[in-house]
Amino acid sequence: MTTFEHAMIGINGALAAGLHRRHEWKIVAFSGAVAISPDWDGLTIMAGMTTFNQAHRVWGHNFFVAVMLSVLLAALDYRFDLVTRTARATMRMVKRDPKKLTIRAADQRRPVGWITWLIVGLLAALSHLPADLVFSGGYGLPDWELKLFWPISHKGFVYPMIPWGDAGVTIVFAAGMLAMVRWPAKIQSLARGALLLMVAYVVVRGMTR
Ligand SMILES: [Zn+2]
Repeated sequence: MTTFEHAMIGINGALAAGLHRRHEWKIVAFSGAVAISPDWDGLTIMAGMTTFNQAHRVWGHNFFVAVMLSVLLAALDYRFDLVTRTARATMRMVKRDPKKLTIRAADQRRPVGWITWLIVGLLAALSHLPADLVFSGGYGLPDWELKLFWPISHKGFVYPMIPWGDAGVTIVFAAGMLAMVRWPAKIQSLARGALLLMVAYVVVRGMTR
């Protein structure tokens, strides 16, 4: 699965749960960012192809590292409000007033909020692994096994149902996003609909592959 669809699973998951009502866009952005976080091992390409071939879809794509990274990101984002700081930096770059976005103050930090961030982070990071198990191979590419229990076990897993890079789910999420802009009052239902459509599409494509 590509970065866009991974992020959209995280984003739609948070919206489908209705978390935006209490935590606004911050929890949605956090969820989207953590959903793509296991792909950090792709950055090893900067260390050369040998390292990349060993590390990509291994070092980040396993339960242990995905869970540890999501807990770390949840702690850092909840404590330092990284998504708002990133959004403010982006606004400065495009010459917009960053003061419209307020950083979470210390007196706004509550244990229940931290637990929400922790659970959302865990679910978002773990959504990445099954998605990469079923979106695999196709178009001349080999199926790409994930070592889900690395580094304890090197056993590879893959359940290819849809070719990697297939546009169907991309279209579902893009259409869902446009519908949310058009009908903002129905964001939660539209997010649930987009996720259900994604699952239905994967099942149908998997049965006909
Ligand atoms: Zn991945």
